[in-house]
Amino acid sequence: MSGLAERLASVDARIADAARSAGRDPAGITRIVVTKFHPAALVRDLHALGVTDVGENRQQELVAKAEELSDLDPLRWHFIGQLQTKKARAVRRRASAVHSVDRERLVDALDTAAEPGAPALDVLVQVNLTDDPSRGGVPAADVEALAERVLAAPSLALRGVMAVAPLDEAPAAAFARLAACADRVRALAPDATWISAGMSADLAEAIACGATHLRIGSAITGPRDTRG
Ligand SMILES: *Cc1c(COP(=O)(O)O)cnc(C)c1O
Repeated sequence: MSGLAERLASVDARIADAARSAGRDPAGITRIVVTKFHPAALVRDLHALGVTDVGENRQQELVAKAEELSDLDPLRWHFIGQLQTKKARAVRRRASAVHSVDRERLVDALDTAAEPGAPALDVLVQVNLTDDPSRGGVPAADVEALAERVLAAPSLALRGVMAVAPLDEAPAAAFARLAACADRVRALAPDATWISAGMSADLAEAIACGATHLRIGSAITGPRDTRG
């Protein structure tokens, strides 16, 4: 547990430093701990250290951990992976936000999956910052059309945009394009203020480009199957 606490504190110090360098208030930045491949017990340890936001990229893993940890409060689950439409209902039941909305059929599936009286689901439009269509996300040119589709879905709340930096480009350049997409989405929906960007290796660049939600895995959790 102490190794985990140290890594969490060290990442939070990096976040605070990067925010200060960018002239931003660290309180405006949400640190989501990505717990994929790690057991539910690690999420329980993180919660005991004050973590309230966790991320998963696979539907089955999110559902299983959320069920096992349903006694923890507050604990918000962020879904950050590619999502099949047939899994939309299961994710919607457990997640408070879906960062990886990348096509109209998924918008419709998430909207249809709303249970009566359930709160609106926070969603982000995932932007593909590469030229490779197999990576998740919509091309930057299609962001507004997909955002409009979300805005038309009564049970979804459009919160902003999400992206993963390409492997073959400086993250700052890619995150600058994401910031431009975020501006265009905010022109449609002033409340859509989230920018989900920044992982273990590029959190400072993401903060400099306005990221509001960081998705940090290995720098906090350590390598897969290792407990702190
Ligand atoms: C795994 C993952 C992360 C966290 O990556 P680290 O490099 O371990 O910090 C962030 N975002 C997405 C979409 C991921 O799949």
